[in-house]
Amino acid sequence: MRSFALASREYKAQDTIVEISTSRKTVFIGEGYCTIIAGPCAIEGKEDYLTIARILEASGAHILRGGVFKPRTSPYSFKGLGSEGVKIITEVREITGLPVITEIMDVRDLDLLYENVDILQIGSRNMQNFTLLEEMGKLDKPVMLKRGLSATIEEWLLAAEYILSGGNEKVILCERGIRTFEPYTRNTVDIGAVALLKHLSHLPIIVDPSHATGRWQMVIPVARAAIAAGADGIMVEVHQNPDMALSDGKQSLTPDNFNKMFDQIVQLAVLDGKIKP
Ligand code: PEP
Ligand code: MN
Repeated sequence: MRSFALASREYKAQDTIVEISTSRKTVFIGEGYCTIIAGPCAIEGKEDYLTIARILEASGAHILRGGVFKPRTSPYSFKGLGSEGVKIITEVREITGLPVITEIMDVRDLDLLYENVDILQIGSRNMQNFTLLEEMGKLDKPVMLKRGLSATIEEWLLAAEYILSGGNEKVILCERGIRTFEPYTRNTVDIGAVALLKHLSHLPIIVDPSHATGRWQMVIPVARAAIAAGADGIMVEVHQNPDMALSDGKQSLTPDNFNKMFDQIVQLAVLDGKIKP
């Protein structure tokens, strides 16, 4: 038996497909779907977030992202709007009907986030925050588990096991690059892990080419590589004015480039037989 028993293919041969529903839209993440999650790194204000949300909705994005509690390397960087940001994401979810995802860093924010968001994101820095993982295991809500900055695949799947063994089966993995000796690409995106995980595990896998590369110019090619390797979708940062973004502007796509990426990804997914034309 593998150390990550519940996450393994041996335990469950059939692919896990996670359903996410708001009152107006239902989307799926898993085999047979190509789910695009998009939005700014952080929510910076209501008007801007609503503007980008409407643009992304019109472009076909399935799920909106928007950080409100941001894990920043420096305590002096913009750390998100906090509960004010939760209010904004909730309003924009209501207006667009699109499901939303945001990061939870602290169990003290769980009640607030549980009520208002459709997917809870565990960020890289908290992949091995076992208390937080155990709390996620008690929920009936989808959880996206990002790979730790230097986590092995086994450690990552064992982190997923914490959530699964608590009784929550709605776990989505997210490859976002790992730290290697190479600083030119912000992280090194582990495309091989994507292909391998399809064999090792039944869990859906999303790739985040924004945090994986740190440069917007690399986002589209890496997103394409991810789909070619078998990823079930992409999570990408988009900003209407990347130069002015309060966080991660360098890796954020403009809406025009998002459209280009979206078209290319869908074509590839059709070509691979992943989705129907
Ligand atoms: C994010 O997606 O907002 C984020 C902070 O990513 P990561 O945890 O992968 O650094
Ligand atoms: Mn970011």
